[in-house]
Amino acid sequence: MHFLDQAKIYLRSGAGGPGAVSFRREKYIEYGGPDGGNGGRGGDIVFVAVAGLNTLIDFRYTQHFKAQRGIPGMGKDRTGAAGEDLVIEVPVGTQILSEDREEVIADFTKVGERVTLLEGGMGGRGNASYKSSTNRAPRQHQPGLPGEEMWVWLRLKLLADVGLVGLPNAGKSTFINQLSNTKAKVGAYAFTTLRPQLGVVRHKGREFVLADIPGLIAGAAQGAGIGDRFLGHIERCRVLLHLIDINGFGEGQEPGDALRIVQDELEEYGEGLADKPRLVVLNKIDLADGELVAGFAEELMAAGADEVFAISGATGEGIPELLDAVLTHLPIETQTETGGAAIEDDADTSTAPGATDRDWSPLD
Ligand code: GDP
Ligand code: MG
Repeated sequence: MHFLDQAKIYLRSGAGGPGAVSFRREKYIEYGGPDGGNGGRGGDIVFVAVAGLNTLIDFRYTQHFKAQRGIPGMGKDRTGAAGEDLVIEVPVGTQILSEDREEVIADFTKVGERVTLLEGGMGGRGNASYKSSTNRAPRQHQPGLPGEEMWVWLRLKLLADVGLVGLPNAGKSTFINQLSNTKAKVGAYAFTTLRPQLGVVRHKGREFVLADIPGLIAGAAQGAGIGDRFLGHIERCRVLLHLIDINGFGEGQEPGDALRIVQDELEEYGEGLADKPRLVVLNKIDLADGELVAGFAEELMAAGADEVFAISGATGEGIPELLDAVLTHLPIETQTETGGAAIEDDADTSTAPGATDRDWSPLD
């Protein structure tokens, strides 16, 4: 089982630059004094928590982080420049754990928090610094100190920005799968049917976490069925997508009914769920003609929908437009909060380097 929100990475701070051995050379002075400068410090490995990142997805592609070495010292008493620090940006909510995952080394809870994890090696002394009254031409110098290295785990509790709601068979799992096949990176979350499915969606250079909240059923708010726990998970979502099966209107059922069932559940639950922006999505339009779709859309608007989109989770039709609209509901700088609803974390759910992100199974 793989979790996208964990990544193992290798860190190495820069070695210090060696000190120089050098003697002054001037006209008419045969033996000038020592003038070898010290080496520069190696760069540190620094972590900083930033807004606007949601996931550790980039750490799946880059796993080795090395800061610059210090520049060697030079003649004429010139100290080598320090190696540049390597500043690694992580989402707020990220924890850094030791390689064995026993120890939490750092815990980022606020934007802008910085932690220097590994210090660069000191630069070595150049021979100028060994000059003394007894030794006027020292050849001693030091190599720079080596950098430090370590493997660590990054771990982030993913919280969904966008929640997918709808009756069973509305096509939620298919929708999330479709995103994984086209424009999205869908994380490798293999959940049992009792857990929400999460996917990381990238669209137009932005990134958000989408949660499939399965089987919102009548009575879920009272804890019936499995809905209760998932409603907790979607409490912090910025926007909800309500998928409605265009084929789901049986005898005597109207599009507005589908809207009301879910609306009632959300209201019943409280916690502001019913007040969240909600995009109503008519799904499976590959099975119906355009006129019918337009008619249903009108009825949904009349029944109180703010916006209605028509898509096919199977063919992908209409999905880019829907994702455009989703982005308008997300702050540019989506900030992941810590605490709150989090996915349960199984003991051994590591993302091994090179792990595939496609080995998750649909729910239901
Ligand atoms: P969920 O219960 O909401 O997760 O729904 P599923 O994704 O499991 O889909 C329920 C059924 O509808 C499955 O048989 C899917 O193959 C089918 N389905 C889902 N989306 C589409 C679609 O866009 N077009 C068509 N034709 N069938 C779909
Ligand atoms: Mg499903």
